[in-house]
Amino acid sequence: MSFQNQYLLSVYQAVCQRNAGEPEFLQAVQEVLESLDPVVKKRPDLVASGIIERLVEPERMIQFRVSWIDDKGEVRVNRGWRVQYNSAIGPYKGGLRLHPSVNASILKFLGFEQTFKNSLTGLPIGGAKGGADFNSRDKSEGEVMRFCQSFATELTKHIGADTDVPAGDIGVGSREIGYMFGQYKRLSNEFTGAFTGKSLYSGGSLVRKEATGYGLCYFVQEMLSYIKQDSLEGKTVVVSGSGNVAIYASEKAAQLGAKVVAMSDSNGYIYDENGIDLAVVKQIKEVERGRIKLYAERVPGAVYTPGCGGIWSVKCDVALPCATQNEINSEHAQQLVNNGVSVVAEGANMPCTPEAIEIFRSNHVLYSPGKASNAGGVAVSSLEMCQNSMRYSWSFEEVDAKLKEIMATIFHNAYQASEEFGHKGDLVIGANIAGFLKVAEAMKWQGVAY
Ligand code: NDP
Repeated sequence: MSFQNQYLLSVYQAVCQRNAGEPEFLQAVQEVLESLDPVVKKRPDLVASGIIERLVEPERMIQFRVSWIDDKGEVRVNRGWRVQYNSAIGPYKGGLRLHPSVNASILKFLGFEQTFKNSLTGLPIGGAKGGADFNSRDKSEGEVMRFCQSFATELTKHIGADTDVPAGDIGVGSREIGYMFGQYKRLSNEFTGAFTGKSLYSGGSLVRKEATGYGLCYFVQEMLSYIKQDSLEGKTVVVSGSGNVAIYASEKAAQLGAKVVAMSDSNGYIYDENGIDLAVVKQIKEVERGRIKLYAERVPGAVYTPGCGGIWSVKCDVALPCATQNEINSEHAQQLVNNGVSVVAEGANMPCTPEAIEIFRSNHVLYSPGKASNAGGVAVSSLEMCQNSMRYSWSFEEVDAKLKEIMATIFHNAYQASEEFGHKGDLVIGANIAGFLKVAEAMKWQGVAY
């Protein structure tokens, strides 16, 4: 795709000038703005209110020093951020990422995407993202705790149950949320739902751990059923990554009758023609925090190949990228198409490059963007906020049923928007438009100044 509309092109050019050197943010903005061409034609009132110019600028961005003491007694310094992207439809909400690659561009892209994703869930949550350039992989338990406490000491000044509610993302699971929530509680002297992804002992919600992966499969199931009168039953599936999203996407895919044959981490991938034994993956990744390579040493017949990109050469019907941004490039996409893939649904945020998406589009692969198909995590986070406010908790079955319904609704809203705006079945355009319109109406209604 490219810009058809002069106004949208000029907004994008201004964004490029103002955010030079931030490729991930520009990539995300370009994809959304290109989708808005039919909206700009139908809704000149939104153009006149400057909604799009305002949406490409985060409301607030906080950058801070995170200093902490390592096990040798030496002082270490990392850089932390919270991007409070948009609060038009609710308190800021979005995950925290701890990974050495984290920078302002990545967090702005994630906050921008989160704004539309949260809108798509139909729940009252604004968009945010945060994190730090910290690598927990080579750190001891004590070091992770001290880092998280130092990070949360600054974060506490900016968050709250009705202001901004962070959650997990890459490198941030229940362990890290626990240390941060503990520090928040000490400093604020309040036990409130200022974080989600909490442990079940401390106000967490059932199904939150499984939500993004399960939600992804519910979305795929609805998409296959509605568009092709088909299902995941009997499909061969490849899932990249072996973290939170990947593990629970694999679990639900298997429960729905599919066979997951490959998974990966940032070093390489495993192939198991008998179907991945998820209990072994969970033991390695959730208990031992080890490398995926160990799987092939423990399961007869399984093969490990170094290099994570190779996973896309594995023949499959359904590909679920659940690791990180831009992990599927045009070469990988072409390999998937040559091997007959029929569905690509994003569990990660922006895992496919624009060139890869074009290849899927032109080969009629059913493709769903992360902001639609991975919204299950934040949806259940919002349900966690709900339960915290009520001082009440729902059963696993209740939360799971709500998640399933939300994912089906997201699919239908995106599909319907694609149809209404003249691009029937294009879920990139449909999700961007459906997510945008709700935020835009709220911003227009609230007036220009914040
Ligand atoms: P985790 O940290 O639990 O797992 C990330 C996985 O991806 C790990 O297996 C990791 O391997 C792998 N990975 C990371 N970087 C790369 C890379 N450059 N190449 C290949 N593999 C890599 O994170 P999550 O599962 O929580 O998140 C995965 C994706 O899903 C992210 O894009 C995140 O933004 C998105 N997401 C997460 C949600 C959630 O609820 N957790 C909600 C919505 C989206 P290694 O261990 O080697 O680093």
